[in-house]
Amino acid sequence: MIKLEAAYKGLREYKDLTGRPQQTPGAHFSRVTPEKSPAPKELCWSNDLAKAMGINETDKQSWLRLLSGNQEEYHTTPVATRYGGHQFGHWAGQLGDGRAMTLGLYEGLEIQLKGAGLTPYSRGADGKAVLRSSLREYICSEAMFNLGVPTTRALCLVETGEQVLRDMFYDGNAAYEKGAICTRVAPSFLRFGHYQIHAANHELEELTELVNFTIDNYFPGMSIEEMFKEVTRRTAFLMSEWMRVGFVHGVMNTDNLSMLGLTIDYGPYGWLDRFDPNWTPNTTDFRERRYRFINQVSIAYWNLAQLKEALQTVCLESLDEVLDQFPEYFHSFYQESVAKKLGLKTCTREFIDELFDLKYELQADMTLFYRTLMSVMEGKEVSWQDAFYKDLSDVDNARINTWVTKWQREQKLQRVDPMIAFGVMNEANPVFIPRNYIVQMVLDDLEKGDETSLRNLEKAIANPYELNEFTRPFLVKAPDWSTSRPGCSTLSCSS
Ligand code: AMP
Ligand code: MG
Repeated sequence: MIKLEAAYKGLREYKDLTGRPQQTPGAHFSRVTPEKSPAPKELCWSNDLAKAMGINETDKQSWLRLLSGNQEEYHTTPVATRYGGHQFGHWAGQLGDGRAMTLGLYEGLEIQLKGAGLTPYSRGADGKAVLRSSLREYICSEAMFNLGVPTTRALCLVETGEQVLRDMFYDGNAAYEKGAICTRVAPSFLRFGHYQIHAANHELEELTELVNFTIDNYFPGMSIEEMFKEVTRRTAFLMSEWMRVGFVHGVMNTDNLSMLGLTIDYGPYGWLDRFDPNWTPNTTDFRERRYRFINQVSIAYWNLAQLKEALQTVCLESLDEVLDQFPEYFHSFYQESVAKKLGLKTCTREFIDELFDLKYELQADMTLFYRTLMSVMEGKEVSWQDAFYKDLSDVDNARINTWVTKWQREQKLQRVDPMIAFGVMNEANPVFIPRNYIVQMVLDDLEKGDETSLRNLEKAIANPYELNEFTRPFLVKAPDWSTSRPGCSTLSCSS
């Protein structure tokens, strides 16, 4: 018998059991009932995570039943939480878990279903999720974890056997798609927006309760100021990590920023193939490009400022100074990270800027460029053209070689041990990232009933820093067709 402990214990529950979408003033969460999947089918199961959670192979089938909406057979207390948020820079009021339901805690971790039906926070939507976006969330969560980037995780993915209606590009062409439920796992799914909603509605008692709950459970012994400092530091680190691997979240609204500094809510995200700081895959954001790759750092800062405004309403000390430390935190993490990527001990801002221009202007592949540098370190003959999308002229090649010479001189000046440096670079520069087109190809194959490429992808994300039979085939530039194909370079919030 699987037993989950109730989550959000001691916080305020909204006492209305109609389950209909509504405002839930003063509440932290509402009780919900996940919908039973009509014909559940296991598609993915994270053995790694299950093992880490102490779930035995013999219990797997029971878990799968639970995670496809049969919670009444088990001991659970499903809830949806209330939060608000700034969407694309504008306050949007109450949002909340519109299709996420926390079943409870297991080994101190929140077990959450995404796509199991309506909650009081579903607003005009259906509370369901389609296979396409659920698979993208599952793959990316587990890939991120193995890349060493802070993230929520995914335990399993089930097809529900139900069809869900979606207008993928909001252009009037709605179509039925396969429904799915992704089970997410994290110590907590608390977001900046959870605090904002109370401050915005002058619910100071409720905000204080939530802040105390957060500190007791996740930042023990800290004051509000210390907690905010830790959130600021972790968020700065997360931004530096996203830049290290070339990740674009796509929808950095304040409701999509984790209080624990985790990557959360994988929607229209993407990975940089060609290094383009202005790139975003999110079609909803094409005009403003608010959440483009390079803007993520300042958006995180802006979002922290919104969190600060909320916390300030229940904190006597000014939080301004803590917030002001964000740029310093970020630059220190980022400089350290770039230094590791280059096998250097330290790295100046000028050196980083020069490299940035080179990668941008010659259209370097974010991943292959660094792996090629590693080959240079090994004394191998390299073809730079294999790591750049621009057709390199002699002048371009000379520019790259000049930079490489400078880099090598820097390594000598800093007296780096080539063996050690290579090891450090190997841990900072993945061989494999789940490029958008790769996941799209897996989805195409699934559509044809073929799971082979999905199984291979699962093996590739398991060891992203290792050159092996599963990662090697993808150590090439993204194909031309992928730059224009929907699902590869363009995605919408429709999920
Ligand atoms: P997102 O942009 O995915 O972070 O979602 C923003 C808000 O919309 C959150 O409150 C979500 O819970 C809600 N939402 C997104 N998709 C759905 C859906 N299919 N059904 C209900 N709520 C949804
Ligand atoms: Mg969200």
